[in-house]
Amino acid sequence: MANWFIAFEVLRRADEELPVEDRDPELITYHEKTSHSTDAKDSLEWRHDFLLRKFLEAYPDIELKDDQRLFTHDQRMAIYRRDKGMCQLNIKCDGAKCDWDNWEADHIKPWAKGGRTTVINGQVACLACNPSKGDTHVVI
Ligand SMILES: [Zn+2]
Repeated sequence: MANWFIAFEVLRRADEELPVEDRDPELITYHEKTSHSTDAKDSLEWRHDFLLRKFLEAYPDIELKDDQRLFTHDQRMAIYRRDKGMCQLNIKCDGAKCDWDNWEADHIKPWAKGGRTTVINGQVACLACNPSKGDTHVVI
């Protein structure tokens, strides 16, 4: 975690040297949130979410807790961003783009079969496809 934070800081400082149109908008917001009213609750929450998501994007194989079945908010953020909100199952849909409020984080290798709750084992599933996924494993 310490090494990651140092790498993040190097990246963040390099980003600050770029012309404003080439900068990562999230890093600009991060800078604003760390510069002004830094102890406001929403500012702290935003920074916590942002750093944790960046960390999970950098280390998608990290499992946050043992026996964790449900993806956390931050894991869902990282999965959704990586998959660009598009359903990866394509059982009932053709890679539908899902609204943030309208998708499930699906275990690629099912949790019941030992699949871990990690960003790398998670994928965006639309609500039409996700209930269908189990069916594909049923032998009739
Ligand atoms: Zn789908």
